[in-house]
Amino acid sequence: MKIAILSRKASLYSTRRLVEAAKQRGHEARVIDTLRCYMNVATHRPEVHYKGEILEGFDAVIPRIGASITFYGAAVLRQFEIMGVYPLNESVAISRSRDKLRSLQLLSRKGIGLPVTGFAHSPDDVDDLIKMVGGAPVVIKLLEGTQGIGVVLAETQKAAESVIEAFMGLKANILVQEYIREAGGADIRCLVVGDKVVAAMKRQAKEGEFRSNLHRGGSASLIKISPEERSTAVRAAKVMGLNVAGVDILRSNHGSVVMEVNSSPGLEGIEQATGKDVAGIIIEFIEKNAKPYKTQTRGKG
Ligand code: ADP
Ligand code: MG
Repeated sequence: MKIAILSRKASLYSTRRLVEAAKQRGHEARVIDTLRCYMNVATHRPEVHYKGEILEGFDAVIPRIGASITFYGAAVLRQFEIMGVYPLNESVAISRSRDKLRSLQLLSRKGIGLPVTGFAHSPDDVDDLIKMVGGAPVVIKLLEGTQGIGVVLAETQKAAESVIEAFMGLKANILVQEYIREAGGADIRCLVVGDKVVAAMKRQAKEGEFRSNLHRGGSASLIKISPEERSTAVRAAKVMGLNVAGVDILRSNHGSVVMEVNSSPGLEGIEQATGKDVAGIIIEFIEKNAKPYKTQTRGKG
């Protein structure tokens, strides 16, 4: 197979591992810088142009689209979909997963356990909004934050009110969520490929921090997850329409809840913590599933 990997940099760990795993299995893999792709979108023969050449003959495309380029990245991926190239994750599913509010609404509709979460536009009802999610402490999140940036813990009612009012004053969209203190600064990252959790790790926030993101200094270790957590993670990925996803779970005293579903999960932490060849498993999934024009939305959404 000829596989395109949409990624800003060939030297990134996940990108390198995917290239390596594809080559090991006898495939051709090429890293394509997403932002250097351009296209004529008003033609009967859809094409992607790249640094002066026309990209041709790809069987599959692996999108590794950073949060800061979601809009353009999804458009490039959609163009590959229109050309019939099989996407590991499709553009519509990636766009969905990048919006925390949209994701939670979709997950909740399918009965996936979630932290109690509120959303409001007007600062007039902030008091009631905080009550609605159970009162302080609460976690306040920017809708399109990532790597823990834009996630704030407000310990008291007063702090929560002022943070929410400040964000609203800046016209930022936010979620207000119950703080799951009993998780103790830890969450579980489940790496889902197809209908399986192929690797899981516990991420523990560093001392004095509640955010477990590895980018925020969190540390990773092995963890055994329950059969319920396993099936919840797989269902959450399915609801989002993602073949490959990093599903983050918090253990709360009302059960394990899904905090978010990531569409370009990093491979470094999880491969190192578990010793699993996740990149290889992803390439195998593509071998089994890649067919021309095989998407749920076929570039329509
Ligand atoms: P990001 O997309 O920036 O990673 P998350 O929603 O995943 O945002 O939040 C970052 C981290 O903050 C999580 O990994 C988790 O450790 C912590 N966290 C987020 N929400 C809660 C919550 N409701 N209760 C407890 N901890 C939370
Ligand atoms: Mg996260």
